[in-house]
Amino acid sequence: MTNDSIIDIQTVNHYYGSGRLRKQILFEVTTAIEPGEVVIMTGPSGSGKTTLLTLIGALRSTQEGSMKVLGHQLMNAPERELVELRRNIGYIFQAHNLLNSLTARQNVQMSIELHSEIPQTQSREMAESMLSAVGLGEWANQYPSELSGGQKQRVAIARALVSNPKIVLADEPTAALDKKSGRDVVEIMQNLAKKRGAAILLVTHDNRILDIADRIINLEDGRITSLEVSPA
Ligand code: ADP
Ligand code: MG
Repeated sequence: MTNDSIIDIQTVNHYYGSGRLRKQILFEVTTAIEPGEVVIMTGPSGSGKTTLLTLIGALRSTQEGSMKVLGHQLMNAPERELVELRRNIGYIFQAHNLLNSLTARQNVQMSIELHSEIPQTQSREMAESMLSAVGLGEWANQYPSELSGGQKQRVAIARALVSNPKIVLADEPTAALDKKSGRDVVEIMQNLAKKRGAAILLVTHDNRILDIADRIINLEDGRITSLEVSPA
């Protein structure tokens, strides 16, 4: 790691359950991610990828080890610090969690207005232009129930990226997308990383997008088995 690492993880262990049912899921996970880096995490189902992503995203408490994100130590951090930190992270998880009573544009716009003083006219334009960037310019006024699974996923991606977060954590974001839209959204994320020095950590099984990564991390049975592998 360097002093500028956006994410710095040292010997993190994680357990689920308690007593006799306590089971170790992550084993001495150590890695760092730098600004502007696009890192892809792969590995078999059940290897702990989502668990690691939620720890980095401050959505779950770090139990053992050191987890530094944007300069904050998450191990034993108070809840208010975690809340503050989450504002700087864009999350794209499998369950897209769109609000059904809001249109696509309102879902995206809300994410800007949650944490900024940007006037509504401007946040509306930002939301519309981000929706166009993910190919949903014509769908801005539709409600989630009127969109396909892939379109909802793209709204979730637009919502995560619109406020230019310093970190984007994405859990299989292209799973519901066809080849072309999958590629498009990943390229949007890559652009954000390069232009704004954001770090992108992407879990995927999608071999078609491995080439956009600066680095690939492979997780097996809760252990990183290959580090610093550059894609061919
Ligand atoms: P992946 O994302 O690589 O498929 P997960 O991080 O979701 O892996 O899960 C890793 C392991 O931890 C799996 O064996 C899973 O069953 C278990 N697990 C995940 N979440 C929980 C939980 N909330 N409680 C108990 N066990 C869990
Ligand atoms: Mg998972």
